Amino acid sequence: MTLAQTSIALRLPIDGRHRQMFIDGAWVDARSGQTMETRNPATGAVIATVPRGDRQDIELAVAAARKAFEGPWSRFKPYERQVLLLKIADLFEKHWEEISRSDTTDMGMPIVRTRANRNRVIGMLRYYAGMATALHGETIDNSLAGEIVSFTRKEPVGVVGAIIPWNAPTAASVWKIGPALATGCTIVLKPSEEAPLTPLLIADIMNEAGVPAGVVNIVTGTGAEAGAPLAEHMGVDKIVFTGSTATGQSIVRASAGNLKRVSLELGGKSPVIVCADADLDKAVPVAAMSVFANSGQICIAGSRLFVERSIHDEFVARLAAYAEGLRIGDGIDPATEIGPLVSLRQLERVTGYLEAGAAEGAKLVTGGTRLTEGALAAGNFVAPTVFAGVSDDMKIAREEIFGPVISALPFDTLDEAVERANSTPYGLAAGVFTQNVATAHQLSRKIRAGSVWVNTYHAIDPAVPFGGYKMSGYGREGGAEHLGEYLNTKGVFIKID
Ligand code: NAD
Repeated sequence: MTLAQTSIALRLPIDGRHRQMFIDGAWVDARSGQTMETRNPATGAVIATVPRGDRQDIELAVAAARKAFEGPWSRFKPYERQVLLLKIADLFEKHWEEISRSDTTDMGMPIVRTRANRNRVIGMLRYYAGMATALHGETIDNSLAGEIVSFTRKEPVGVVGAIIPWNAPTAASVWKIGPALATGCTIVLKPSEEAPLTPLLIADIMNEAGVPAGVVNIVTGTGAEAGAPLAEHMGVDKIVFTGSTATGQSIVRASAGNLKRVSLELGGKSPVIVCADADLDKAVPVAAMSVFANSGQICIAGSRLFVERSIHDEFVARLAAYAEGLRIGDGIDPATEIGPLVSLRQLERVTGYLEAGAAEGAKLVTGGTRLTEGALAAGNFVAPTVFAGVSDDMKIAREEIFGPVISALPFDTLDEAVERANSTPYGLAAGVFTQNVATAHQLSRKIRAGSVWVNTYHAIDPAVPFGGYKMSGYGREGGAEHLGEYLNTKGVFIKID
């Protein structure tokens, strides 16, 4: 039975049932028969088992993607790919509540946030649909003797391997599948073992939309057993990866076998600079949620908060009061603003940083502990935390924590703030709060990061490129550059005399 025949509400496995993965248009288990559990991080309950795919399953998925790429899918006209993407976008609209509940239950993101992502994610799909018919090469005059016409063609790069993290399963899946479909590529997507359920729900939608077999394949499994074989596979033409910098480095090494193209969206330690002239009423909540949203499990978290010394103490006090007012709980409750961390492993990692901050002499202003009162005891909850008195060389100021932890650092001059903000191996994003337009322009030029937000944060749009500088990765998602990552450029010369 294909899952398209069942009602989607029944497909959401939050009752411990088994869920298969999607290869060559069919629902299958791992060849090895192995499975793995996925838990609700708010309650600790096992909500589903999924196949623990490995190299054998990756082989099957890549073969299916190759067959589809060279077969019927290659004959789809841009307009047909556009229609398909628009249909997928409509189905996302129809099933958004299930998608939201799936992300919330599997990885803990509060449902207010998953629901609110609707326009952004569906907007991405419609943007890619629009781009499907806008791809083109160019005619270029050459200086060769005789009559030779020269032009470029944009061609799909081929079979794409996509490896994604757990912190935003829906958006990450759409950011990979959308451009693949728009450009005529086929894709094998490996979700994170921590949050595989929504990508499987998205496979349902692909089925329902009528995406041909093999065009989109979803293989669940661990990084070592399924991710690594995908990254090194000689039949994969490109890897798009979102995840940690360390894994990104191993993906680059694994790609060397066939020199496949690679694009990387990696980690960050993003600075937020608050100038004394900022509108503090507006800056406090935005700076707080630049980290606390999704319990800090955001690559762009503005976790290094540089505050001009004259307003530092007031700003930190207001930030702490804001943090203390946030409602923490199971994300499925619409009143919840802060949900759990995705796993016990992540909880231990984050509490390790809380201990390191205290041990290195940072001043704990609020938070700083795991929350274990009442129902919170069953889940992976950490109090939104603000450290002050942090110096640039402390572990909490240098390393990506991926938890709800802000380090406040005073500064005296803008030049000093910029220098310290840039003093990191990362370069994903940055925030600036100022009411001075010249300062806004100067800082946005001088900060070495792929996105700079002034008097706002988290602004991401399908038409605007997003990606890293330095060790936050290379390649861009969003905008025409994003589609370019999935295309080869061919130069053609035709002698006509
Ligand atoms: P991770 O690197 O541990 O895992 C990401 C994915 O890679 C998972 O699917 C995992 O199974 C897989 N993987 C692990 N080892 C692998 C290997 N050797 N070969 C191939 N695949 C492998 O990251 P995570 O803990 O899931 O996510 C958190 C990280 O992701 C943070 O560093 C965060 O900043 C980053 N991130 C970046 C962005 C961005 O757009 N820049 C967005 C979200 C998350």
